[in-house]
Amino acid sequence: MSQTLPPCPECRSAYTYEAGSLLVCPECGHEWAPGTAETGAEVRDSVGNVLADGDTVTVIKDLKLKGSSSVIKVGTKVRGIRLVEGDHDIDCKIPGIGQIGLKSQFVKKVTD
Ligand SMILES: [Zn+2]
Repeated sequence: MSQTLPPCPECRSAYTYEAGSLLVCPECGHEWAPGTAETGAEVRDSVGNVLADGDTVTVIKDLKLKGSSSVIKVGTKVRGIRLVEGDHDIDCKIPGIGQIGLKSQFVKKVTD
């Protein structure tokens, strides 16, 4: 049996170990609480589902794109999202539009 600990969120070292309630990285010295810091703050969609890289979401309202006449229509399905930091916390590629940033509050996770 082998216990799998998450890799260090700072340097991706796999040699993490438990110290009390914390996980510790021997390579960079980072300490964190398991299950919370792995990908930074949780990103939730409009109804509170936790989003993760690779999820499929739908857009819940028409979104105008800045500096263009394109509109992302409500109901547009977006596959393979990537979570990023910032105001627009979802990075994704929409067919016919391209690489854009979305706000998590305007999408809903597809769970099929
Ligand atoms: Zn580390």
